[in-house]
Amino acid sequence: MSSKVVIMLGPPGAGKGTQAGRISAALGLPHVSTGDLFRANLSQETELGKQAKGYMEKGELVPDQLVIDMLFDRVAEPDCVEGYLLDGFPRTVPQAEALEARLDDVELTVLCLLVDDEVLVERLAGRGRDDDQPAVVRQRLAVYHEQTSPLIAYYTERGLLKSVDGAGTPDEVFEALERHLGGER
Ligand code: AMP
Repeated sequence: MSSKVVIMLGPPGAGKGTQAGRISAALGLPHVSTGDLFRANLSQETELGKQAKGYMEKGELVPDQLVIDMLFDRVAEPDCVEGYLLDGFPRTVPQAEALEARLDDVELTVLCLLVDDEVLVERLAGRGRDDDQPAVVRQRLAVYHEQTSPLIAYYTERGLLKSVDGAGTPDEVFEALERHLGGER
């Protein structure tokens, strides 16, 4: 059966989580956030949570295989049969390759939010999450530029990338994203 997978790409603080929630509601697809899955594992003190904790606190990426295993378990659940919206995954080229190898007969759309670093730093400073301390924020942005931003070229080459200016209000950004999704509701 064919299904629809939407990837929400963009730096930390770009508004991925907010927009992913709205798009998932509009499309009727589950919102799958690897950051949320890790935070749930952390608060439940699972083995995976213990393995991920140090990386998250430092603003580094959790090793690919841990993320990939966790994500593939999640999207194997019945609510993802018709598709899902990915928020925070993939974040490295190997993660994107693993996803590509797994997806079969899937309509894939990659939405990318573009926001300047200065705006991101300001937004993250106001958010108050544990990993939003200034030094950690800088590290997460550096990690984004080094390890995640190559995915922009990766998906552009595959003709899948749809970029949107993420600097507007949440409503403006959502409207721009919806236009890329072909007006589906
Ligand atoms: P997020 O809520 O998406 O900003 O994720 C919070 C933290 O979880 C990140 O800073 C990483 O430490 C970890 N994380 C979430 N998703 C991934 C991923 N796809 N690959 C590696 N680490 C991740």
